[in-house]
Amino acid sequence: MAQEKQLAWDLYYSYENFKEKSLVNRRFKHSDIIPLIEQAKNNKIFKVDKVGTSAEGRDIHLISAGNGKKKVFLWSQMHGDEPTATAAIFDILNFFTAGNEFADFKNFLLANLTISFLPMLNPDGAELFQRRNIFEIDLNRDLIRQQTPEAKLLKNVFDTLKADFGFNLHDQSREYAAGNSINPASISFLAPAPDWEKTITPPRENAMKLIGTMMQILNEFIPGHIGKYSDDYEPRAFGDNFTKWGTSVVLLETGGWRDDREKQFLRKINFIALLTAFASIAGEIYKDQTAEFYESIPKNEELMMDLILRNLKMKKNDHEYLVDIGINFEEKNMNGAKDFYFKASIEDIGDLSVFAGYEEIDLTGYSVEPGKTKPDAVTSIEELKKLNAPELFKEGYTNVLFKSESYLNEFSEFKFNIVLNDISKIKSSIKVEGEANFIIKKDNEVSYTVVNGFLFDLQNIYKTKRNGIVYK
Ligand SMILES: [Zn+2]
Repeated sequence: MAQEKQLAWDLYYSYENFKEKSLVNRRFKHSDIIPLIEQAKNNKIFKVDKVGTSAEGRDIHLISAGNGKKKVFLWSQMHGDEPTATAAIFDILNFFTAGNEFADFKNFLLANLTISFLPMLNPDGAELFQRRNIFEIDLNRDLIRQQTPEAKLLKNVFDTLKADFGFNLHDQSREYAAGNSINPASISFLAPAPDWEKTITPPRENAMKLIGTMMQILNEFIPGHIGKYSDDYEPRAFGDNFTKWGTSVVLLETGGWRDDREKQFLRKINFIALLTAFASIAGEIYKDQTAEFYESIPKNEELMMDLILRNLKMKKNDHEYLVDIGINFEEKNMNGAKDFYFKASIEDIGDLSVFAGYEEIDLTGYSVEPGKTKPDAVTSIEELKKLNAPELFKEGYTNVLFKSESYLNEFSEFKFNIVLNDISKIKSSIKVEGEANFIIKKDNEVSYTVVNGFLFDLQNIYKTKRNGIVYK
């Protein structure tokens, strides 16, 4: 594997030369990839075919390169809000067209493989940044009935290609950890089962071996951050059936990474993982593996939270007790799903010692109580702007009552939340699934506040990146 690892590092250091610069975050749309597909049409390395249209009429394309004997088929973003691998595919297309760099390697791949890319299988879902297509059907549960045009065309392309290897490219929740480690499962793999008995058929065994080589490569970059997805058989899913029909399918799920919500680092890891997997297939390196590496990958466990506040004192009636509080952020789409704001909620309260936070803070010696709403209403934006957040926080307020008939903002751009018109729109309590607005005290002085899940250190208030909520 030494040679493959060297190749992976070379790709790592030269990645910026190939990164598709027009795709900058996760919320790009079909209209952003169409110019890139047009570019591919103009390059003789590629054969580009329109293979169908989505339910809303967006064209879906298959882009192929190489004329080798072994066929590789990759499809991405069958779930509309899972775009990381789509961006990586366009990075890989750039890699193939970018001059003489890696020329021998590229010639080797193109001589031995025919690689077919189907990026963004669910463009209508991508438009809304939602998992399902516009029929509200999960494409990966539609293989049997084929009620969606997207599932139908994926099955047709599969039947036409009869690929040796398939890559089923997804994103998964940031909440998964690699085993019971404190690390996010940043990349998870699965060689899907072809039946209820989870039989290791020859195609599945080859997928396991290939994953073994991919895992060894990725251990160079993200050791301890690799997980294995549940191998329960799902008769309605594509990967499971494609395995049954003789293709060695690798499910690759991109998860979370600290300080990389837009997953641009993990996009680079996808780029490396896929290109080195092509090398492994072209050179039949995977054949020398056993399934041992695959078996050794720890299972995905839902053990990550966005923020964990540790060892806080809480009070109810005459009881004082110690708790950890775990908080997760939901992304709320806005501006035509081109952007989002955060809405936090309390995920769990109690002994959270088995969980890990993307962010954690030990608050031993501090007590927590619900943030209050400043009851004397503010009536203009100018007044809101004049409010001094640290002063509010010191008085125990995380929310401000705002009386306005015309205020339409979905989120608060201030450091506090806005309760619109009616103070009863917010409940001041600390409850699982409830709002994450707290004041945190030591010796009766407010030291920290949490506003919509964002922790403010009153000593250092202006560094925090955040948004509040408008309760209406
Ligand atoms: Zn998915």
